[in-house]
Amino acid sequence: MAYGNMFQLLLERVSDDAGWVLQLVHDTRGARLQEMKAELTRANIDQVPARLAELEALGLVVCVDDVWKTTWTGAGVSNWRTQLHCAEEGQAVAEPREGENGHQPGPECSQYRAALFAPGYCWCCRPWKDHSSEAIRAAERLLKR
Ligand SMILES: [Zn+2]
Repeated sequence: MAYGNMFQLLLERVSDDAGWVLQLVHDTRGARLQEMKAELTRANIDQVPARLAELEALGLVVCVDDVWKTTWTGAGVSNWRTQLHCAEEGQAVAEPREGENGHQPGPECSQYRAALFAPGYCWCCRPWKDHSSEAIRAAERLLKR
């Protein structure tokens, strides 16, 4: 397996259609079934309740007062899925570390790992310039001129 992270293990158990449903739930930050159905019908994805049940069984989404939301893990799987979609052929893809889902700020971080789903940001949710490793690299570039 190319990527040893937890989100990859879960993503392998999510069908293609359910992956799109997960992305929509994540992008909307909470949506009702009817709102999602219209959007997903346009994308030729049906059986939305079954897809949501599939995602719920994996612990990736929850339904509270008729509103579907991603769990912490679900947000991470959606971001990891987008990370893989955005990567170019053969490009090395930065992985999240423990405690990071790319959505809520993670533990302290000094090593920038590009989040392709949020350009300019790291998996820890901080911009690249807030990473000491990047500040040093930028300084080195200036000195070499
Ligand atoms: Zn970081």
